[in-house]
Amino acid sequence: MPNPSLLILPGDGIGPEVMAEVRKVIDWFGTHRNLTFDVTEDLVGGCAYDKHGTPLTDETMAQAQRVDAVLLGAVGGPKYDDLDFSVKPERGLLRLRKEMDLFANLRPAQCFDALADFSSLKKDVVAGLDIVIVRELTSGIYFGEPRGIIEEGNERVGINTQRYTESEIERVCRSAFELAMRRGKKLCSMEKANVMESGVLWRQIATEVGKDYPDVELSHMYADNGAMQLVRNPKQFDVIVTDNLFGDLLSDAAAMLTGSLGMLPSASLGAPMENGRPKALYEPVHGSAPDIAGQGKANPIACILSFAMALRYSFDRGDDAMALEGAVEAVLAQGLRTADLLGEDGKDPVTTSEMGDAIVAAL
Ligand code: ATP
Ligand code: MG
Repeated sequence: MPNPSLLILPGDGIGPEVMAEVRKVIDWFGTHRNLTFDVTEDLVGGCAYDKHGTPLTDETMAQAQRVDAVLLGAVGGPKYDDLDFSVKPERGLLRLRKEMDLFANLRPAQCFDALADFSSLKKDVVAGLDIVIVRELTSGIYFGEPRGIIEEGNERVGINTQRYTESEIERVCRSAFELAMRRGKKLCSMEKANVMESGVLWRQIATEVGKDYPDVELSHMYADNGAMQLVRNPKQFDVIVTDNLFGDLLSDAAAMLTGSLGMLPSASLGAPMENGRPKALYEPVHGSAPDIAGQGKANPIACILSFAMALRYSFDRGDDAMALEGAVEAVLAQGLRTADLLGEDGKDPVTTSEMGDAIVAAL
């Protein structure tokens, strides 16, 4: 068996800083778990533009298509604000998502006990929370035609179209059911079938796909109620599947259940490859955080947990993913905090690399 392959794209800002800590974790798995990756590292975003005049070269794109998984840090920064739209750092990431056809965006909201006080909600509402929102990422109102601003009579009209094909709904629902099978076997599909045709179709297709997954308990909820339930009692959910727009809103709301941006991983999955695993890109939810870049202040946990997701979903190493998540839990329980995990008057934060070292030590 060849080693599993990984393309690492640290990117800009704090991306390289947090990725350096992930590299320590990867090395640990190589030494102690007999899990050695064929790692290639390359440029994406502003740093790729600086070197090649494009935020993502064709060679890097081709490599992303070849590997078992891509791990990305963050792209962008003020240095690139005035660049032409076509070469903006973010375009590198968008090209990856588009050409790899990553239609299912997984955003876990997991509350580590040690941080339950840090949530914007009451401790008992979030302690032990562990849910995943699956957001459709490649279609819906962000892409539907017709769109634009038109003249109508003597005023302008802004138009967007919510449009979903059967196959687009089917594939993302299937990803969500597969995920639910590996977890608590509970899936809640959210739309607004009461007022939207796309919602009516969504509900039908989700129900049909569900017939292939009799072990998963499927429920349906209007997305507005879903938003309310997410802040009222989020632990009633296991996996949530929803469209692009609702997923955008719901996953941001869910994110704040758990505290800092510096804690949140994500995975974007596409169709299964020859080995049966989905095409996949893993990245922290946060951006390049130019305000703290280069100062050793960045929290590496979001990126480290993104690698844990890779272990689970791309490399079938669920036990190792759990060990890594356990190590994160352990260092938090020891009281280690990067600056973002301390309140206004927080004292004695650890640095990015101290946090990474502690997690490796806990492993
Ligand atoms: P983007 O447009 O790329 O999403 P953004 O401006 O929305 O970027 P971030 O770059 O994620 O947002 O930064 C938002 C705030 O959160 C900043 O103040 C940043 O310092 C902080 N932040 C983001 N990621 C981390 C992290 N890993 N550790 C500590 N603080 C972080
Ligand atoms: Mg942002």
